[in-house]
Amino acid sequence: MSRRPDRPSELIEGVRAGDRRSLARSITLAESTRADHRELADEILETLLPHTGGSTRVGVSGPPGVGKSTFIEAFGIHVIDEGHRLAVLAVDPSSRRSGGSILGDKTRMAELSNRPEAFIRPSPGGTHLGGVARRTREAMLLCEAAGFDVVLVETIGVGQSEVAVADMVDLFALLVAPGGGDELQGIKRGIMELADLVIVNKADGDLAPAAGRTRADYASAVHLLRPKWHAWATEVLAISAITGTGVDDVWTAIQRFCAAVSADGELARARADQATAWLWSEVGDALLDRFRADPTVAAALPGLEAEVAAGRLAPTRAARRLLDTFSGPSSPER
Ligand code: GDP
Repeated sequence: MSRRPDRPSELIEGVRAGDRRSLARSITLAESTRADHRELADEILETLLPHTGGSTRVGVSGPPGVGKSTFIEAFGIHVIDEGHRLAVLAVDPSSRRSGGSILGDKTRMAELSNRPEAFIRPSPGGTHLGGVARRTREAMLLCEAAGFDVVLVETIGVGQSEVAVADMVDLFALLVAPGGGDELQGIKRGIMELADLVIVNKADGDLAPAAGRTRADYASAVHLLRPKWHAWATEVLAISAITGTGVDDVWTAIQRFCAAVSADGELARARADQATAWLWSEVGDALLDRFRADPTVAAALPGLEAEVAAGRLAPTRAARRLLDTFSGPSSPER
């Protein structure tokens, strides 16, 4: 299993030339937990950074079975036929599985994955949302550097990963099924608030009338939400991923969204905010790692945890003690 050591310059050149193997390998390095891989990935990302930011970043979420993979396949092919190159990434820190299907799985999007203009990457393993989100962000930047001008990030609509995805994309689209309210569909209220586009899927055959009603219900519901953007109000569309009806409307809506929020610099500001938030989450993660790895903290931790669990020590006080141990001699007052 000996392989040639990775040469960052070759990978960088490959990614810039749109070479899929170089892109895949660079993403693998970014996903790796090995320090030497991490360093290579950092070098690659840093060099490629000026070539990022050129894509339309779209989050796609919805409960299992709503038709995400069917939609992404139909949408992806439409977008490619319009002359674009599309990357599909996935965020699924919980288990990688949802209702029997793996997010971002190529077998779920057989036709799309055969298109040379598409790049599909399944969800990176790992249980820690922060880590998975970081790797997905980095994968997104690498895809942009490789010339993909539409990046879809897929997630299942059940919890926190939606927030993480909304924090890394321009437009967040929520797929829902005909009939049933948010609760029935397992959609949390907070996730509705993240949506820039609500897509009622399966508006075909017997389900068409119910899809129409669901569309109207969501259309009145989104009016009540606090708007995310000055220049864009959440839209609700009814489509059929299977027949393809309305899939082009989704793409048109996304393009209108981009034009609207780009006009007065709102999108650029949102991206700058996202990058700053990313910086702070990196600082937070790294500090926590260092904190846990600190020998004095590690020694004191089990005892203090037990004291807190037993109710003998207030959590605030325990945290203070641990932090004092950690910052130790560098504290000037002591
Ligand atoms: P995911 O779990 O959200 O990725 O959902 P899938 O794309 O795997 O679809 C779940 C089921 O819904 C499958 O049986 C699909 O054939 C079906 N489905 C997806 N889109 C549509 C649609 O537009 N209309 C109808 N009638 N069924 C659909």
